[in-house]
Amino acid sequence: MKINEFPSTIRSYLLPKSRGKVAYECLGCQKQYGIEKLHYTCPDCGSVLLLNDLEFDWLKEISPEIWQMTFNYRQMLTGYPELQGIGLFYELIMLGIPMSSVVYLGEGHTPLVYPNKRFRDKIGHPFAFKQDGLNPSLSFKDRGMASAYSHLNALLDSNVLESVLAICASTGDTSASSALYAASLGNPKIKSVVLLPQGKVTPEQLSQPLGAGAKVIQMPGVFDDCMKVVEYLSEHFDVALLNSKNAWRILGQESYSYEIAQTLNWNMDGIVIFLPIGNAGNITALMSGFIKLYKLDIIDTLPMIIGVQTEHANPVYQYYQKPEDSREFKPVEVRPSVAQAAMIGNPVSMPRVVYLADKYNKLASKQWVHVVQVAEQTTMDCTLEAYRNGFPICTQGGESLAGLLEAKNRGILDGSRLAILGATAHAVKFAEFQQKYFTDSFPPEFEVRAKEELQNRPINLSSTTIEDCANIIADMLQLTSK
Ligand SMILES: *Cc1c(COP(=O)(O)O)cnc(C)c1O
Ligand SMILES: [Zn+2]
Repeated sequence: MKINEFPSTIRSYLLPKSRGKVAYECLGCQKQYGIEKLHYTCPDCGSVLLLNDLEFDWLKEISPEIWQMTFNYRQMLTGYPELQGIGLFYELIMLGIPMSSVVYLGEGHTPLVYPNKRFRDKIGHPFAFKQDGLNPSLSFKDRGMASAYSHLNALLDSNVLESVLAICASTGDTSASSALYAASLGNPKIKSVVLLPQGKVTPEQLSQPLGAGAKVIQMPGVFDDCMKVVEYLSEHFDVALLNSKNAWRILGQESYSYEIAQTLNWNMDGIVIFLPIGNAGNITALMSGFIKLYKLDIIDTLPMIIGVQTEHANPVYQYYQKPEDSREFKPVEVRPSVAQAAMIGNPVSMPRVVYLADKYNKLASKQWVHVVQVAEQTTMDCTLEAYRNGFPICTQGGESLAGLLEAKNRGILDGSRLAILGATAHAVKFAEFQQKYFTDSFPPEFEVRAKEELQNRPINLSSTTIEDCANIIADMLQLTSK
């Protein structure tokens, strides 16, 4: 629809008013810093930052009903791609970014998909997957890259920056996404460099930044080692860090909460959301997004949130296992995991999680954020079981489903609560693990054995004549002749 075809009550809200008062705020010392310079940690105390919308209260001058209508109607607006996807929620995400600088590659607006009856009964609990593997680079990371690159683009457009060297460490999906957004700008002033732990991203993931023309550098070790190197680079050199330590990433990923709320018609009663935790950027964004909607009365209740970690990379789980007064964060040494994109022992967003989970629980007046841990075996079985029922989810999505089973076992959930499961990337990125399963060839440290009933293999015919092939197939399938 064109703008003048919308009801007059909503027309004037569809195109966002530009607002610009935003600051980085330090979670350690609460100092604020302007956004015209790139900051990833507090120059004063070194803690992580979040972006603070200094004009947030202005949003309250518009009624929650008008906000809901604005976000709903924008989906039908023609001619403004920058107001689609995460841009639907422009006023909450694109802080201080002019529309002309917004990058849109079709990220966001991913569907909630419900299981067939057989699968639902097998799991014994109502659920739906949010299929974030349908994003442009096939993972949710695109939500945060769209906002981070829009911000960089705005700095280039306004000549605050001369050029940008965009750098990130990655378990595979961050690099795929960062390289894609850099490439999409077609601007020689933006160059993309990604640092990967050698042998610890899948061949499909490795092909992505290579295809997008990024400089791909691999080093021995695990993700946490790569992260240390890019942190060092971002502290000592003039580079733009595109990991979720970058607070602009978090803002874009908040669209995940906004979309869940919108898809469920802004009613969060009886909802629980499961997300795998790696570097903890996504769960940070999830909590932060719902807190904003709640403060604006766009939703009346906060959904329950359950983070999921594998036993092989579980620092956040371990932290919350301890009684509240003796909690102390300790990084863990990771072990090989099928949920490789979340195989992180020292999540950079941990201080954000601690801060926001506390705030979330207080706002909900009960413990409303939980973390559970799951076995590698359950994760892998869940991933394949989901595929068998029409969900091409990644192993981290399998982790979400395994988390639902675990939360049920532990009695954290009441029976009727609809579980939204984060399927954070597409299955094809992790085909390697499926293949290892089908050939029952996981190295022992993965602790995964294949179940016979979930295996499948191609059948190879040796004949080349049409008739032979057809007859062999007819025999095999026991076809009746006509
Ligand atoms: C990055 C990633 C995660 C972990 O998200 P964090 O924000 O790092 O906690 C989970 N699943 C997939 C597919 C990912 O790419
Ligand atoms: Zn500080």
